[in-house]
Amino acid sequence: MVQRRWFDVVVTLVFVAVATLEARAPHSNGGGRPPAKSPLSWLAPYREPAARLIGEAVGSTFAWQRLALLTDSVGNRLSGSPALDRAIQWSIDEMKRDGLENVHAERVVVPKWVRGTESAEIIEPAPHSLVMLGLGDSVGTPPEGIQAEVLTIHGFDELDARSGQVAGRIVFYNVPFTSYGDTVRFRASGPSRAARYGAVAMLVRSVGPEGLRTPHTGALQYASDAPKIPAAAISTEDADRIQRMSDRGSRVVVRLKMDAHFEADAESANVVGEIRGRERPDEVVVVSGHLDSWDVGAGASDDGGGCIVTWEALRLMKKINLRPRRTVRVVLFTNEENGGRGGMAYRDLHRGELEKHVLMLESDGGVFRPLGFGFTGNDAARQTVRLVATLLSGIAADQITGSGGGADIGPSVQEAHLPSMSLEVDGGRYFLIHHTPADTVDKIDAVEMAKCAAAVAVMAYVVADLPHRLGE
Ligand SMILES: [Zn+2]
Repeated sequence: MVQRRWFDVVVTLVFVAVATLEARAPHSNGGGRPPAKSPLSWLAPYREPAARLIGEAVGSTFAWQRLALLTDSVGNRLSGSPALDRAIQWSIDEMKRDGLENVHAERVVVPKWVRGTESAEIIEPAPHSLVMLGLGDSVGTPPEGIQAEVLTIHGFDELDARSGQVAGRIVFYNVPFTSYGDTVRFRASGPSRAARYGAVAMLVRSVGPEGLRTPHTGALQYASDAPKIPAAAISTEDADRIQRMSDRGSRVVVRLKMDAHFEADAESANVVGEIRGRERPDEVVVVSGHLDSWDVGAGASDDGGGCIVTWEALRLMKKINLRPRRTVRVVLFTNEENGGRGGMAYRDLHRGELEKHVLMLESDGGVFRPLGFGFTGNDAARQTVRLVATLLSGIAADQITGSGGGADIGPSVQEAHLPSMSLEVDGGRYFLIHHTPADTVDKIDAVEMAKCAAAVAVMAYVVADLPHRLGE
């Protein structure tokens, strides 16, 4: 009866938290627009359904088990792969089994990049194999590979300063990870910047903190005005070894072999399921993740988990018979990793109803211990979601921070200027496993994941049910 005890604890915590808030409410309006009447007059009726949603979520390991089933039975899911097709069909079947409404696939044509076999090795000053992963969307090498001396550099300024030494070399960006935003640019635009000076290939220190000799893949972006050269990420340990060799003044020679190439575009789909609104079904709250992943690991944290916890919001509502005023729609996007065509296709297909989208939420930062949500929207909407989030204080997921959004909801949000939200979690472990063979379900804790599902469920349900439209 462990489950039952969990439920009681959570219900108690939620009630205590809301009671505390009520006591403080007259002084806690902050700088936002003062609501016409006490905000708690609309908030109070949501205490009970919120507690039930949380209890239902944390009372089982259903979300984790479903993610384990997806990642064990399908595995990773690169755009255009048969595995992604299987995941799409499985999601449709399972959503129907959950009793979701209007379950269907929305066709998207996606690029199909194929890694093929690949390897890299140090030839001089001493032979060592390198633990590597070709970067997504990279071109391949000739069959015999590319063998050249390595030029180790530590930033774009140094690349420009040493541009005269680049021609005919393999440029190696050895920039230690600080944050993803800071470091990812060497992976993304490093190949073309080196190619403009005549580099024949590019290596990058994996964009992630220290790992256990784990390479991190991810997309590159070729510029239109530079030759396309093959590019790969190597593990931080291998990066350090090349650095030591360079520091000793050794001539370092690497041979890189990659079969990577594009095949013809492929059919794929976004998967959609709904709980139709009981009063205003044409107004929609979207919750989402992306079903595609890189072709290594199992795509558990990126982003199978985001798909499952947002889908859980609808399953949980259905399970305890909650039907909000407005429609809640889950979208499992395709092709986030190397094209973004799922997000663009959603915007194009739903253009006529985007203005009826009340809120779009995406979970694509892992499903570790939830902290709350990032939010972008007007002050009135922010005030409202802050109050809704207080219903999550019992599971410590009540923060509403700076800005929120996601790669897949981005095109729709920008087109129609919609309020947008991202699930925020304790992300300390996320970039250790991001885009690596180690992105597997065992890194995810079932209780933390259940809390993520609970947080999304409560936020989506209350925003979809509000007496007033969010932001008005
Ligand atoms: Zn992702």
